[in-house]
Amino acid sequence: MPDLSVIQYEISQMTYTSPKGYSGIYDSRMIERKSDLARLEALDCGKPLDEAAWDMDDVAGCFEFFAGHAEALDKRQNAAVALPENFKCHLKKEPIGVVALITPWNYPLLMAVWKVAPALAAGCTAVLKPSELASVTCLELGDVCKEIGLPSGVLNIVTGLGHEAGAPLSSHPDVDKVAFTGSYATGQKIMVAAAPTVKPVTLELGGKSPIVVFDDVDIDKAVEWTLFGCFWTNGQICSATSRLLIHKNIAKEFVDRMVAWSKNIKVSDPLEEGCRLGPVVSEGQYEKIKKFVANAKSEGATILTGGVRPKHLEKGFFIEPTIITDINTSMEIWREEVFGPVLCVKEFSTEEEAIELANDTHYGLAGAVISGDRDRCQRLAEEIDAGCIWVNCSQPCFCQAPWGGNKRSGFGRELGEGGIDNYLSIKQVTEYTSDAPWGWYKAPAN
Ligand code: NAD
Repeated sequence: MPDLSVIQYEISQMTYTSPKGYSGIYDSRMIERKSDLARLEALDCGKPLDEAAWDMDDVAGCFEFFAGHAEALDKRQNAAVALPENFKCHLKKEPIGVVALITPWNYPLLMAVWKVAPALAAGCTAVLKPSELASVTCLELGDVCKEIGLPSGVLNIVTGLGHEAGAPLSSHPDVDKVAFTGSYATGQKIMVAAAPTVKPVTLELGGKSPIVVFDDVDIDKAVEWTLFGCFWTNGQICSATSRLLIHKNIAKEFVDRMVAWSKNIKVSDPLEEGCRLGPVVSEGQYEKIKKFVANAKSEGATILTGGVRPKHLEKGFFIEPTIITDINTSMEIWREEVFGPVLCVKEFSTEEEAIELANDTHYGLAGAVISGDRDRCQRLAEEIDAGCIWVNCSQPCFCQAPWGGNKRSGFGRELGEGGIDNYLSIKQVTEYTSDAPWGWYKAPAN
């Protein structure tokens, strides 16, 4: 069993106290790696350096978390199952086998580690296929694994285009499971490719998540969470709460404050100090976002702010934080995942209306509610059909809690207590303990 906490030490520069007493040599390498990895991540996918550094902390935390689960697994082995007289049973949790891990570009290393750490903790061997748009930090992970002596063949990293490198993994008869994070369209293809060999798949797909803001809030605090919920990670986050439902009593003031706050967001080279919005990942993504904005306009929506290149940035795939109003629920901008810094706004009058609008989507990854009324928050947490609900915040995500979506946002849950179980299969061992013959057939005459 590879020692995951060693990998964690190599990657992290956090000042963890070593649970296993590793020496300072790891600490100095760790510090070196974190800033390098964060810089590479920012350069490769465009996210602000501060966010990339945050990701590396989460990467380290994720290895640490699943290292603990790898050890706890031994204690969960051979659990007895109570059976009727003459039988005894115990359960073995075994690694599923060879797993294909196919990941996107928005959190290139973190999304990979959400899969690599539990897969290795479970004792699987893995083939990681990072996104062709941002593979560099995953290759660095390979380097770290080599350094710490992970046996060769345990973690394999294959780069390449989806249809050339990802598709063959999904259909390969020697791959026992596919864990995928990416778009709904690719998720569908992976399910189809996995079907002939009846491979289990877990799918973490896209979203069009709501944030519901009531009229009993501190406006500036709620504005900041709303903007963070949509514009963090350059707006390229599966769980972005990109549909704001705002109570009509405060709608005008709230939207005015949001516009003022969003003009204050620093859009710049991701390596520049204080950057809060970098360029989107590629030209294709840039053109797609601009088309969404243009279509919204032609369908009758109002682009209140943004939707264009910032004047001070002549080059690069930069787009200003964008807020769109005058939305109706048949518009593309209301229904489709943009995956860019684009927030659409709709007013509501009653709690029932807010819930109906919140659930008016094929997706079900996340949702957020902001209100001073805790009972109301709990009611919405129950009523919104999604795998993750934030109350009085949007986006904070912890490896201790399970993550995943409902409806077309996929199925299965990563992280959390059960995260390692995605990579285990359960075998029951049942024993007949009586000395008496079974007695169902008649013994032949001798
Ligand atoms: P994508 O589906 O285009 O690509 C994801 C990965 O799949 C890449 O590695 C790609 O090369 C590979 N791929 C593409 N075609 C394939 C095929 N036919 N067979 C096998 N693999 C194939 O997604 P993306 O553009 O990289 O990422 C953005 C999407 O990811 C958004 O929809 C976003 O919501 C989603 N996402 C979801 C989560 C989540 O936790 N639910 C997290 C991050 C991103």
